[in-house]
Amino acid sequence: MNIRATCPNCGDVVLPREAMQVRLCAEDRSGTYNFVCPQCRTAVSKNAEDRIVQLLVAGGVKLDIWHLPAEIFEERVGPPITHDDLLDFHIQLQQEDWMADLLA
Ligand SMILES: [Zn+2]
Repeated sequence: MNIRATCPNCGDVVLPREAMQVRLCAEDRSGTYNFVCPQCRTAVSKNAEDRIVQLLVAGGVKLDIWHLPAEIFEERVGPPITHDDLLDFHIQLQQEDWMADLLA
């Protein structure tokens, strides 16, 4: 079965359903569909509302459910890292016993 999609360069294109993927975020339920244009080889990704996700999946397009990285939900403490912190760390890494210094 073929799917009709729109490439930003070529306009309407037809591709096999196996050439398209639907990605759905498990946490916020946002969806996209993705394909490589069969004419110009551009990678295309477009937002997809629930209705579009359901239509594509019902049509046999592969569904990929992904999760936001756990770090997003971690509680952060302390001030943000600055460029000076990075420079200090870089200089520290050049010392021979940098690991012992960090652990101290
Ligand atoms: Zn194209």
